[in-house]
Amino acid sequence: MSIASERAKLASLRARTDRQLIVLIRSELERGLYLADTCAASDCPCDGQHRAEVELAYTDALRLLPRIDDLSQAERRRIEAQLSQLQGTLDRLPVSGQSRTRTAGA
Ligand SMILES: [Zn+2]
Repeated sequence: MSIASERAKLASLRARTDRQLIVLIRSELERGLYLADTCAASDCPCDGQHRAEVELAYTDALRLLPRIDDLSQAERRRIEAQLSQLQGTLDRLPVSGQSRTRTAGA
């Protein structure tokens, strides 16, 4: 195989990996946002489990983002918007051991 076609093959492989990473990041973010919504909307008895999952989705997405070589401006903006949206939801989610229902006398 010629060097040129090797290079083309590598480039298309890399593009495919980039697309897979973008899909992965997006599904992580969407899962996180969905969990955050579910958890914040109801009086959730998860005892911080949703928050832990949302944090994981957030850090995973943040960790994967720099590994994309070729990310369009629009795509980056969209992912960054979802990241900050997800970060904002974290404040509304209950932390482990900290029930939202008030204890007597409080
Ligand atoms: Zn929850």
